[in-house]
Amino acid sequence: MAKPANSRVICDLSWDKPGRQVSVLRLPQSRNDAGWGTVEVPIMVTAGGKGPTVLFTGGVHGDEYEGQIAVSRLARLLDPRKLRGRVIMMPAVDLPAALAGTRLCPIDSRDINRCFPGDARGTFCQMLAHFIDSVVLPLVDVSVDVHSGGHSMDSALSTNMHHLPDRKVMARTLDLAAAFGAPYNVVFWGVDEGATLTSSVERRGILSIGTELGGYGRVSVEGVRIAERGLRNVLKHLGMIAGKPETLQRDSAAATRHMMVRDRAAYAFCPADGLFEPRQTSGTPVKKGETAGFVHFIEDPARRPIKLTYAQSGVLWMAMGPGRCHKGDTLAVVMRDYQAEA
Ligand SMILES: [Zn+2]
Repeated sequence: MAKPANSRVICDLSWDKPGRQVSVLRLPQSRNDAGWGTVEVPIMVTAGGKGPTVLFTGGVHGDEYEGQIAVSRLARLLDPRKLRGRVIMMPAVDLPAALAGTRLCPIDSRDINRCFPGDARGTFCQMLAHFIDSVVLPLVDVSVDVHSGGHSMDSALSTNMHHLPDRKVMARTLDLAAAFGAPYNVVFWGVDEGATLTSSVERRGILSIGTELGGYGRVSVEGVRIAERGLRNVLKHLGMIAGKPETLQRDSAAATRHMMVRDRAAYAFCPADGLFEPRQTSGTPVKKGETAGFVHFIEDPARRPIKLTYAQSGVLWMAMGPGRCHKGDTLAVVMRDYQAEA
C-alpha cells in the first residue's frame, strides 16, 4: 500500500512480501545538533501462507516494559515457514519514550495514545499516529496492544476491551481475550478514549484487545510470561500457528476470569495533594467500605490523614503507586465479575 501523499514518514517495507522483514519507520526530526535528523521507529513483519494480518504493539507508553520485551522476542523467533498469515510487530511504538523509560514522548511531551488518528504535519507523536492509522491499520484484521500500569500504577494481570454495541463483534472479542489467557479480562463501558490507538483500531472494524500486565516502573516477571504466552495464544486461536491456546492459570483455574469496570463506583480518586499509602496490592479481593488507603500530609504531621474506602466490592485492578499523589488522580480501580446482561 502506498503511503498517503501528505505523510512525512518514510517506510521501505514491502507489506505483501513473504518471509521476515526488519525495518524502521523513519520520521524527520530537526534538532540543534542534526538539522536533517531522523528518528527510526522499529517495525518487523513476518509473513507466511494465506491468513489474517495481526498487529502486535508494545511501548506505546515507554515505561511499560512487558510488551516491549514480549513483542521484540516474538519478532526474533517467529518462523515465517510455520506461519499462516502476517504478523506486523512494533515493540516500541513511541521509541523516544521507550529509550527514556517515560510515559510521554520526550520530543513533544505528548502521550501518543492520546494523538490518534494523528496529523501528517503535526508533532512527532501526531505524525507517527497518522502513519499507523492511515497506512498500517488498513492492513490489519486483529490488534493486540500490550500495556501495563507504567510508573504510576500497578495492574492485576489482565487483558481489556471495550463493551461493543455489535453482539457478534463483542462475542469474537471476548473469545480473543479468553484465548490470550491472562488471569483476568476486563470489559470497559462507555470510556471516552477517542484519541487512543484502540479507538482508531475499533473505528476501522478491527478486532481489538489491550492488556495491563504489571507496572510501578519495573518489569513484571509474571507479566512478561503472560504477554509472551498470550501473543502466541492469539496466533494459535486464529489458526496462524499450530497448537491450542494455553490458558491454565497459576491458581489452577482453567481459564480467564471475565470482569468489568462499568461505573463510577469502580474508581477512587485522590481527595487532596499528599502522600498515598495504599492498603492492598493489585489483584487483591476487596469489599465495599474497606479501607483502600490513606492520604498523608507529611508537611503537617499533626493533621489526620484522609482515609479512602472502596465504593464497590470486587478485585483491585489498578492500584496507584505508593508515593506523592495529587487531587483528582485515580488511586484505585476495582473490577467486578462480568455480567453480559448488565
Ligand atoms: Zn499504557
